[in-house]
Amino acid sequence: MADLSTPLGKVVGQPSASPLAKHRGLHTVGDLLDFVPRRYFEPGRLTDLSSLVEGQDVTVVARVDRVSTRPMRQRKGRMLNATITDGAHELDLTFFSAYGHEARLVPGALGLFAGTVGRFHQSWQLTHPDYQLFDAEQEQEAVEQYTANLIPIYLPAGKQMPSWKVRSVAQIVLASLGEIPDHVPPEVRARRGLVDIASMYRLLHQPSTDKDVSRARYRRKYDEAFTIQTVLAQRRAAGAGLRTTPRVPREGGLLQAFDARLPFELTAGQQQVSTEIAKDLACEHPMHRLLQGEVGSGKTVVALRAMLSVIDSGGQSALLAPTEVLASQHFRSITSMLGDLAEGGMLGGSQIGTQVSLLTGSQPVGIRRRSLLDAASGDAGIVVGTHALIQEQVQFFDLGLVVVDEQHRFGVEQRDALRGKARQPPHVLVMTATPIPRTVAMTVFGDMETSTLTELPQGRSPIATHVVSNPRWFQRTWERVAEEVRAGHQTYVVCPRIGDSDADGEPAATGRQWSDEDVDVAFGPDEPATTVARELRSVLEMEVELADNPALAGLRIATLHGRMAPDDKDEVMRAFALGTIDVLVATTVIEVGVDVANATVMVIMDADRFGISQLHQLRGRVGRGTSPGLCLLVTETASEMVQQRLLAVAATNDGLALARLDLEQRREGDVLGAAQSGGKSQLRLLRLLRDEDLILAARQDAFAIVGADPGLEQHPALRDVVAFALDDEQAAYLERG
Ligand code: ADP
Ligand code: MG
Repeated sequence: MADLSTPLGKVVGQPSASPLAKHRGLHTVGDLLDFVPRRYFEPGRLTDLSSLVEGQDVTVVARVDRVSTRPMRQRKGRMLNATITDGAHELDLTFFSAYGHEARLVPGALGLFAGTVGRFHQSWQLTHPDYQLFDAEQEQEAVEQYTANLIPIYLPAGKQMPSWKVRSVAQIVLASLGEIPDHVPPEVRARRGLVDIASMYRLLHQPSTDKDVSRARYRRKYDEAFTIQTVLAQRRAAGAGLRTTPRVPREGGLLQAFDARLPFELTAGQQQVSTEIAKDLACEHPMHRLLQGEVGSGKTVVALRAMLSVIDSGGQSALLAPTEVLASQHFRSITSMLGDLAEGGMLGGSQIGTQVSLLTGSQPVGIRRRSLLDAASGDAGIVVGTHALIQEQVQFFDLGLVVVDEQHRFGVEQRDALRGKARQPPHVLVMTATPIPRTVAMTVFGDMETSTLTELPQGRSPIATHVVSNPRWFQRTWERVAEEVRAGHQTYVVCPRIGDSDADGEPAATGRQWSDEDVDVAFGPDEPATTVARELRSVLEMEVELADNPALAGLRIATLHGRMAPDDKDEVMRAFALGTIDVLVATTVIEVGVDVANATVMVIMDADRFGISQLHQLRGRVGRGTSPGLCLLVTETASEMVQQRLLAVAATNDGLALARLDLEQRREGDVLGAAQSGGKSQLRLLRLLRDEDLILAARQDAFAIVGADPGLEQHPALRDVVAFALDDEQAAYLERG
């Protein structure tokens, strides 16, 4: 009897096992059983041949209608043409040698045919398809079997292993399967109405009815969510088991001094979140908290207050930013918010003050050495930096808190590397401005506590967004920009490319891998690349074009992108912040966090090239002051669907609604990381939006189990599943957290 870890070859023989391993990465009985059929044919019904697509690999059930053979001109032998039918539509089969087929493919024969759909003389055809006929006496039986049961259709495993061969392998495997342990405890199954695991496999691969399929799929989806949630619950339990130094602000300390000079009142939300964080920091267990809040909701102030209370208790804080531009900006704004409190130990500085250091990869050696020293000696209470912070030679005297800004650019490894620089596990606060639907937060950041800032500080102006798709209005766009500048404001113009090399048309990765350049190029071409005939707008071309535009005569135009030298970038940002640049032509390097209150207009060129959430992030750069913001989404797309998407962005400022829409339109794999789109992806059936209830249920169950039994001693089967999931690609997937 086989179990889930039995090699496939042992059960079905090497000739069948090899193609499954080679083409689908299926090595064990468990792998094969988890290779879920893509769909099921309904009993007795032939495939609808009206919906074929060129290049598609299909398996169809059809009847041979007519057959002809003819000699070939160039070679010996005859070729065979057959036409199969579903009763209404036809499909041609072509064999370049009739030999072996002529006797079998006779009119009236019923069978399964598999091949790649091609187009020839205006009709669909399969060339040399693989096929399996139900011959006369079999037909009765086959038809009976097929009328009684659904026929599972699998992805083929190469040419030798079409769908039905995968199916017979699955049948053999099922028949030889011994008892398998169920990792979902019986009481949970009973409560959630889940079939046991052996039944699930049987119903997936041998269903009789639609109901069978949906019961099996439901269990399967539950398993996907349950495994992930168990991992997260364990991570959280592990975190709660760690000990660290509680950090409590000092009476008459930095935090109090800072609060006293804060020029505004904290919003109710900021106060509440601050309280939550203070409570965490006062704890002996390291904080692990996600702070969500729309752009401009005031997360940075909240984070800074947390950093100050850590300094008050003798520790240091590190602020990790995804780009140099952002790190410098944080450095500038923190220094200016602190005023003389940031001049601790200096002549004329405050008694209780501290120092703030900046650490980036491209600093001059001297400055960098100074920052390294200040971090190591503890003189710097706050060290702001990019991934340079993570490098080995960076030492802290007593790192108590790590704040990670814009988490989606960082992976768990980077966070862990920084954590490793503390003598004890530091408290961790992750900030994100990307609104995250609840179930995504639960899945991707599910091992963290979450806080959300829901209101914007008073006096924020609304952003109006318009789609500009009619070329007649393009020039008007620039006139509008000029008007705004004449009124004393500034404008961003965002382009999807830099334009200084051929390579930059490459879409950037959206996760883990990151660098300034990464962040710089629009990601997610939601349309296949072939639909883009025209060159996308680039920063460098746009600069020239705008400089030549009479409407913009006399305006000060500058550019910003990730391939500029860091000093130059810094200087441009500083000049823009000071108002000595009117129009800043940039890539998405300005996407996250850049904060210039006087900028009121954002023009996004080729807006169709950006994802929904990204557009929302981008426009958050304007309307940060008291004047209303305007965002113009310029597009030349002809696609109705894309226009609709842009209109949706224009229609609402509700980031969460847009995040959901974004998620609906993108594949989950994009959201959760590349590993998910692989063939053995864990999220094969689970959908983060549609399956919200199920995810909630699985989370509740998993947390209850881990809460009572953190090491899963009483749940060996679950422990195995989790261990397996972890060292498989789940690890890569969880990296997003
Ligand atoms: P986020 O990091 O969430 O995008 P910031 O913390 O950068 O937001 O805040 C955006 C701007 O709003 C900053 O200029 C900040 O000084 C200001 N701000 C923050 N909190 C308040 C508040 N309670 N009232 C008025 N202005 C605030
Ligand atoms: Mg910010």
